[in-house]
Order: sequence, then structure tokens, then C-alpha cells
Amino acid sequence: MPDTELLYARDAYLRAFDAHVQEVTSDGGVILDRTALYPTGGGQPHDLGSLTWDGGAASVSDVRKDGARIVHRVEGDLPPVGTAVHGEIDWPRRYALMRYHTALHSMSGVIYQLYGATVTGGQMYTDRARMDFLLPDLSADRLRQIEERTNELLAEGHPVSIQFLPRAEAFEIPDLIRTRVNLIPESVQEIRVVNIEGVDQQADGGTHVANTREVGQVHITGSENKGKGNKRLEIVLRDG
Ligand SMILES: [Zn+2]
Repeated sequence: MPDTELLYARDAYLRAFDAHVQEVTSDGGVILDRTALYPTGGGQPHDLGSLTWDGGAASVSDVRKDGARIVHRVEGDLPPVGTAVHGEIDWPRRYALMRYHTALHSMSGVIYQLYGATVTGGQMYTDRARMDFLLPDLSADRLRQIEERTNELLAEGHPVSIQFLPRAEAFEIPDLIRTRVNLIPESVQEIRVVNIEGVDQQADGGTHVANTREVGQVHITGSENKGKGNKRLEIVLRDG
């Protein structure tokens, strides 16, 4: 069975698409030949949406990765194998997650530029996000600096580009080495790179806005000690 073509990986702004049903799993998961629906991964929650076809309709309640294929969990009718379906994405939800994803990468760039601190994890929601990083000393002063510098950069309007690089080439980029590109399994020969120009560059599978101006402004709502020098920041976005 061929891999699912990941339409969202090349065009994050694709809200609707057409595809064919390749398989329906024994527990009712729908596998398409291509999809614009993002599966849970990399701290970004899955999309919601709908599938419609001649004589049927279903809403998509969960999207997960299974190896190189994407499984859509649906509520409603089940499309038979071979059916041509039309997919639509819950766009307000996805766009909020894109803004939060680019916000976290921008902050990650700022924290590295200011303090040489590296990020250890992140989680996005539609109305907030959090990020974990290694920084023993996180004073109120530093929190203010992080917020200010991030907001300056966001307002400057840096373009966000997606590139697919051969593994060897990606391994030469310092930003990618810092964010541990080497942990990507050797079977992956093409590395997807999200470059917030002049701010941050990471190997990443998520969906991002096209320009930092779309993020708006970041507000740090809380910080927490997670032990062993690990810190956690919570943010919300406001329109810029
Ligand atoms: Zn990411």
C-alpha cells in the first residue's frame, strides 16, 4: 500500500482537497491516497473536518499517523474503498494552531539567541501553548526580555518558508544540528525544514503561517520550574 501524500506538508493553507479512499481499516479508520488533514504530532493537535462523497458524509473526529499513512477516524457514514471524496478542514481551528506553532518556533529562536538555551518540548492548543526549555535562571527580567524580543521579531514580518533538503545537506546547517536533526531516523532521507527567516530554523513536520506578522503578539501568562534546569512557559496570542 503506497504512502499517503501529505498535502499539508507543502501547502499549509489548503483548506479543501479531493482524494480517493484506499482502505477502510477493520476498526473503521479511513485511509486516503492524499490528505490535507494534519495528524497529531510534534506538539500540534490533529485537525478536525469533514469528508463528503456521492451519497454519503462523515465528520472527521481524529487524525493519526500510522507509519507513512494517515488514518482518519470518522463519525457518520463510512465511504467504501475506491470512493472519490471531498475533504474540508475546520479552518479556524487549524489556523489558530498554525499561529501558535510559529509563535513557539519564534520564541525558541529568541531564547537561543538571548541565552543559548535549547527547547526540549512544546504543546499547542487552539487558545494557548506551552514550551519547555533548558535554562537554569529564568528571572522576571528575562521573562520580560523574551516576550519583548519575540514581539519585536513577530512584528517585523519575517517570511516563513518550507524546504525539503537531502539529509546530508540538512546535517550541515548549524540551527538544525542544535535542534537535533540527527535524531531523525536514518530511513528519512529528505528532511522538511521550517525556516522563519532570520529567527529560527528547525526540522519540523508541522503547519505554520507564511509570515510572522500573522501570529500577532505573544503574551507570557505563566512560567514554571520543571526540575533539572527545565523551565516551562505558557503563552497566549493577541492580534498584532
Ligand atoms: Zn514545531
